[in-house]
Amino acid sequence: MRFGRVIPCGPMTAKLLDGNALARQVRTEVARRVQALADAGRRPGLAVVLVGDHPASAVYVRHKVKDCEEVGIASRLDRLPADTPQTTLLERIAQLNADPAVHGILVQLPLPDQIDEHAVIAAIAPHKDADGFHVSNVGLLATGNPRFRPCTPYGVMKLLELAGTRLDGAEAVVIGRSNIVGKPQALMLLAAGATVTVCHSRTRDLAAHTRRADVLVAAVGRVGLVTADMVKPGATVIDVGMNRDASGRLCGDVDFASVSSVAGAITPVPGGVGPMTRAMLLVNTVEAAERG
Ligand code: NAD
Repeated sequence: MRFGRVIPCGPMTAKLLDGNALARQVRTEVARRVQALADAGRRPGLAVVLVGDHPASAVYVRHKVKDCEEVGIASRLDRLPADTPQTTLLERIAQLNADPAVHGILVQLPLPDQIDEHAVIAAIAPHKDADGFHVSNVGLLATGNPRFRPCTPYGVMKLLELAGTRLDGAEAVVIGRSNIVGKPQALMLLAAGATVTVCHSRTRDLAAHTRRADVLVAAVGRVGLVTADMVKPGATVIDVGMNRDASGRLCGDVDFASVSSVAGAITPVPGGVGPMTRAMLLVNTVEAAERG
């Protein structure tokens, strides 16, 4: 139960962190690096594999292919039917691993039930693992020598840079402990010198943690989870969540209307973390090609 906190609903005072504009800058820089590689006869290539016809996944992979085209990365999309056996997918990955024109490989998640996600991620050559989900890349990140950083938390770090938020010595709270967002986010914030708390579905008093945060990253998938009374005045709030509200509009985990009058800086949804996730995949691909 919460006592003595008035939920502010004043005007927006937080700095808005524009993920679309930052992603455009990142893409421009990637395009320059792609051109330099292409001039040297090494055009970067990304292979995207989609199994089945999950509607959201189909949209995501279309975006990824379009982004590649825009910056000059050669992309190919393999669409496999929903009933593809795991062995067939693993064979496809082995071919891509061996293909010198492919520098990055991404298998869109989630996968159909007959396929073991861990086995698929493990089959991707670690030096082509553009999502950064392979255990060897997770291990490198955890031990302070990252090769690929998972795109969403990597994009969040860029947004924190844009916010000008000091991370060294800061209290950072991450809500969510998934392998693709929460855990790698915590590792990246830790590496940047923050004191990191990871909250999750079993956390007893979420607000007690979030109120201490100078940096708050919400990655849960629940509309309106973070309200103004849970946010320290002046904090930087990053909303990773992607949800639909009651009227079907895209929204995050943070109650933007109220939190933006308490926070010092905040990301919108849409237009915050989403475009940065897409941009960082391009960064990972060009970095893979630069490493050769
Ligand atoms: P997930 O379902 O794998 O993990 C959600 C996490 O939230 C879990 O660790 C769980 O413990 C925690 N959680 C659930 N209920 C909670 C509660 N009441 N209080 C505190 N913690 C709670 O999800 P995910 O893949 O990490 O994605 C999280 C959200 O981020 C989703 O909305 C997803 O759509 C979104 N997402 C956005 C992007 C992007 O580019 N913007 C990328 C990836 C994920």
